[in-house]
Amino acid sequence: MDKLLKKFLGAATVLVLVAALLPATGVAFAGKSAPPTLTTLQPGGFRSLEQDLTVNVVFVGYEQGAGYQDIDETAFLAGLPASYRTINRYPYFYGNKQFLGVDFTYDYNLVFADTAFEDAFFGYLDTIKVSKPLSLTQVWYNVEANRSLDITENYWIDAPSVEQWLADNTSSMIGVDTSQYTIFFINWYSRPDFKFHVYTKTDEPDPDTGYNFGELRESRKVIAWGGTTPDDEESGLGSLHRIWFYDLSAGPDYWTDNYAIDAAPGYTMPPIWEYGNMAGYRPFDDLSGDLGKVARYVAIDLLFTTSPLYKPALSPPKLPETVQVDINLYQIDPSFDATTLFDTDLIPQELGELLAHNSVSVDLAEAPFKSRAEDVYNCFIIDISCYGSRLFGIAFGDLFLYHNDHLIDYLDGDADYEVPVFGYYDSEPFAAGGLLGFADDDWATGTQSYVFAFDDPALQASGYGFSSTVIHEVGHHIGMSHPHDGYDYETDTDFGPDGDFYFAWSGDESNTIMSYIDLNWDFSQFDRDNMNRYTTAIYLNQANAILADIYASSKAAQAGSLLTSADNHAAQALTAYAAMDYAGAAMHAKLAYLDVLAAAAQINVKVEPQSWQADYKAKGESSKFVDSVDYQRSKP
Ligand SMILES: [Zn+2]
Repeated sequence: MDKLLKKFLGAATVLVLVAALLPATGVAFAGKSAPPTLTTLQPGGFRSLEQDLTVNVVFVGYEQGAGYQDIDETAFLAGLPASYRTINRYPYFYGNKQFLGVDFTYDYNLVFADTAFEDAFFGYLDTIKVSKPLSLTQVWYNVEANRSLDITENYWIDAPSVEQWLADNTSSMIGVDTSQYTIFFINWYSRPDFKFHVYTKTDEPDPDTGYNFGELRESRKVIAWGGTTPDDEESGLGSLHRIWFYDLSAGPDYWTDNYAIDAAPGYTMPPIWEYGNMAGYRPFDDLSGDLGKVARYVAIDLLFTTSPLYKPALSPPKLPETVQVDINLYQIDPSFDATTLFDTDLIPQELGELLAHNSVSVDLAEAPFKSRAEDVYNCFIIDISCYGSRLFGIAFGDLFLYHNDHLIDYLDGDADYEVPVFGYYDSEPFAAGGLLGFADDDWATGTQSYVFAFDDPALQASGYGFSSTVIHEVGHHIGMSHPHDGYDYETDTDFGPDGDFYFAWSGDESNTIMSYIDLNWDFSQFDRDNMNRYTTAIYLNQANAILADIYASSKAAQAGSLLTSADNHAAQALTAYAAMDYAGAAMHAKLAYLDVLAAAAQINVKVEPQSWQADYKAKGESSKFVDSVDYQRSKP
């Protein structure tokens, strides 16, 4: 009892006070054998990260009104979703609907750019345009019987420069924060200074072949672009923006087939000047509804807030620190060294930028192409299974079956998680029918299994090495979907770019290796955001799962300081997430998870990786694998 307290309290009061403290002290002693009460982590619980997300929609060159080429805000908004819940798509194909705990409600901020902005923007396009012959699809458009006009000239406009201009000027000129998700719907056609144009991206030839798809291919002259990161090696924006622009006064283009007026392969969005034309393959009379579809099914579902193809949680509950892309190359053509078609610096660099919270490496080794391995590849090629009815007679499953049976022969076991990649370089042109690669599942639960990649002299001559295929397919393996297929939550629809969703091809016109458009080898800002959100939810929920075992232990209190630290990191993760600092959120969530792992280790609660692949290795056939799950390696 200190002097100050005595000064204010009479002796009797002090006695009462001490007596009152005794039971409390007793509780405190009991508390030393009870673990801390957590405020953010939830032992055994599942946290859904709920976010109210602002989506800016900026109309540039469009006016509000009832005309066919004007915007009806009510009609536009009527097509947009109020909410989203992220699912694992592949398991859902098998009937297993799993939500990730990454949920959104949307607020839409519609802005019509003012004249000053439009004058500056279209003036900029005018200064950077480069005169070129008509594109192939502009020529094709000009022979459509029911077209509204003739295209008489064409200009190329550099797409990355346009995205940079929007990043640099939108906030200062019209007060829209482009670090929030922002769609620009552009219409130059409404102005007297209009020029027919296409957007190009020509700064990123194939890393292995040097082939410049953006320069050389007509089909790579586009009407939309965006998603560039601040630090993209070719066209980095310098600061964080979340921009996608879509210009129906550009093109028309080949990628979305929107030159087709008389007949179309599916639901396309024609050039803006066709709105009001009722003589096309469908009446072009609902611009606001069509742009609503693009905003919903492309920008929101495929770019901004996507659902992953595969479960992004690799080997839960013990998540990997080190990830190795383990490439096994079958050199079928003895006259050519196909190892030259793998850029072993670029592959881990690009994947490492997406898996920012893991250490990513690559291992490239040759695999003998002989006996059973050769037979199985040939069965795959001629499409008659070597395995009879084992996988329903589907020869496409043969490569999975063979490598599943022989996995131990191929995995080195020197990373916490290995992505098994099998490459085939064949001497026959288009030996695999033009197939570049696929990220297979396990044919049972929709869990990712192996990556297969293919090349041959003909594919190589058309521009393709192995590096871009490997980055793309491993992108799938760790979860990423294409920007042209995905999931719409409110309609519970998994869709691809065909039929009513044909226009979804426009998602490929963004700066991601997950597209088919071959204009870059990076993951986009949208990819990074999506992966960081998945990662945040996964670390927190795997921590919650492990905490159930920890809190069931009588020794839990011994790990009290680690548990408190974990809870603090989890709270910081939620704060960062709410501020759209998804990278920071994932980092804090990982620190929370690592504290929980350390707590488990401290009191001997066992945590093991449980991917089916890890289970296979854990059957005792690889002693190296036992080393890789050592708790020591995961200590913070
Ligand atoms: Zn793909």
